[in-house]
Amino acid sequence: MKKYDLAIIGAGPAGLAAAAEASAAGLTVVMLDEQARSGGQIYRDVERAAPTRGTILGEDYLHGLSLIGATRAERVTYMPRTTVWDITPDGELSYTRDGRADCLQAKRLLIATGALERPMPLPGWTLPGVMTAGAAQILLKQSGLISRRAVLVGSGPLLYLVAVQMVRAGAPPLALLETQGLIVGPARHLPRALMGWRVLAKGMGLLAELRQAGVSRHKRVREISIEGEGQVGKVRFEAKQTMHEISCDTVLLHHGVVPNIQASRALRLEHDWDAGQDCFRPRIDDWGRSSARNIFIAGDGAGIGGAIAAEHAGRLAAFEIARDLGRMVVAERDRRAVPTRRALAKEHVVRPFLDAAFPRYSEALADDTIVCRCEEVTAGEIRRAAALGCTGPNQSKAFNRAGMGPCQGRYCGLTVNRLLAEANGASPEATGYYRLRPPIKPVTLGELAQMKQPDGLEKTA
Ligand SMILES: Cc1cc2nc3c(=O)[nH]c(=O)nc-3n(C[C@H](O)[C@H](O)[C@H](O)COP(=O)(O)OP(=O)(O)OC[C@H]3O[C@@H](n4cnc5c(N)ncnc54)[C@H](O)[C@@H]3O)c2cc1C
Repeated sequence: MKKYDLAIIGAGPAGLAAAAEASAAGLTVVMLDEQARSGGQIYRDVERAAPTRGTILGEDYLHGLSLIGATRAERVTYMPRTTVWDITPDGELSYTRDGRADCLQAKRLLIATGALERPMPLPGWTLPGVMTAGAAQILLKQSGLISRRAVLVGSGPLLYLVAVQMVRAGAPPLALLETQGLIVGPARHLPRALMGWRVLAKGMGLLAELRQAGVSRHKRVREISIEGEGQVGKVRFEAKQTMHEISCDTVLLHHGVVPNIQASRALRLEHDWDAGQDCFRPRIDDWGRSSARNIFIAGDGAGIGGAIAAEHAGRLAAFEIARDLGRMVVAERDRRAVPTRRALAKEHVVRPFLDAAFPRYSEALADDTIVCRCEEVTAGEIRRAAALGCTGPNQSKAFNRAGMGPCQGRYCGLTVNRLLAEANGASPEATGYYRLRPPIKPVTLGELAQMKQPDGLEKTA
């Protein structure tokens, strides 16, 4: 089995920055990512798309070009199209690449698997033509594809960004249906957030672009449902005490991103409930070290902070890993950490305001709304399980199979947590989360059959 000092899962800003620093410190690094090209979510495909779609995707996107050199750095083995589906606490990774499963081992692991869009179950959200705003952005970044009759629904900075990118691409959304309320509570975070004025100014710039393009925005929208025969035909909603409907063929849902905790949960690492971000996050120290000594987590997978924060967090983890493996003395680690920490703190300053300004859509789910898409479990079935004594998502698997499909709860985990917490009058923390088991991503028998046997074992017929 191949062995490395450090294995990094994820080639987004956190993984790329960590790989560059760790390799510069003399560590052998392997960086695995299921995408065909590096960049992660934000800088997806940046090297290929920058010359043709750079203006549409904006300056922040082009910043990714400064990071991707890490994939070619000395001592870095970059493995694109590689899906990691199992991680053991002693640093063994199992993955699939080009139809074949294999494994490798590393002294230290850095999980840099980023964020997932928070699922937004609504009546009709399983109809063809509904997807997340992030998925639409992936189509735009990777293939230059865009819908001309789309409505954007939800809240959060990414919703505005995607809307603006659609305007620049010549296919403005038909409307933006915004679910957040008045910015009253969040106002108390504003004075501190003003220190992160660049982020706020960017947001104002996006809104100005939308205004200029004449994109209609409906605010404080409730009672949203998506309707159509076999595919999206229209979206209905209430705004200003009036019911509205808009004909469309695409609905793009988004109400924020949450840490992707599939790997950290499968590893049984400690997690905490983050009330501000309304999600679970793995417990880490100032260097990104998790509750297991040899496992680090950086970037949005450790708590949502944005791309630049992810970069800095990746660097901090790399400094400490280099120190840990005897490649950097403590004084050098600390010296290099000072400007990085300062820059990281600057990125974090605006977060509490953003989190409070764009909360998740909190309207009660109708009983017949599907929550777990893989197993087609409804909100009513989750509530019935609670009435029968089910206290947490893990137990609910036995009642109705929620979370047991191929996505392993990525789409429903937080919704099931919320429904059970509400029904039982318990806190989200006490309600808990799914106990994830490998494989954390689907792997086929054919891929497993291609797997080399561990050293010293003969393959039997
Ligand atoms: C769909 C989506 C779109 C976004 N678009 C923007 C945007 O345009 N602008 C912006 O400012 N922020 C955007 N964000 C937020 C943004 O993702 C982050 O702030 C930033 O990219 C976080 O960097 P990261 O390195 O932590 O993770 P990411 O950039 O998300 O990188 C994580 C990487 O891990 C890989 N990965 C995950 N699991 C596995 C696995 N099991 N095996 C192998 N590889 C794996 C993924 O393929 C991905 O490349 C977006 C988020 C999402 C979910």
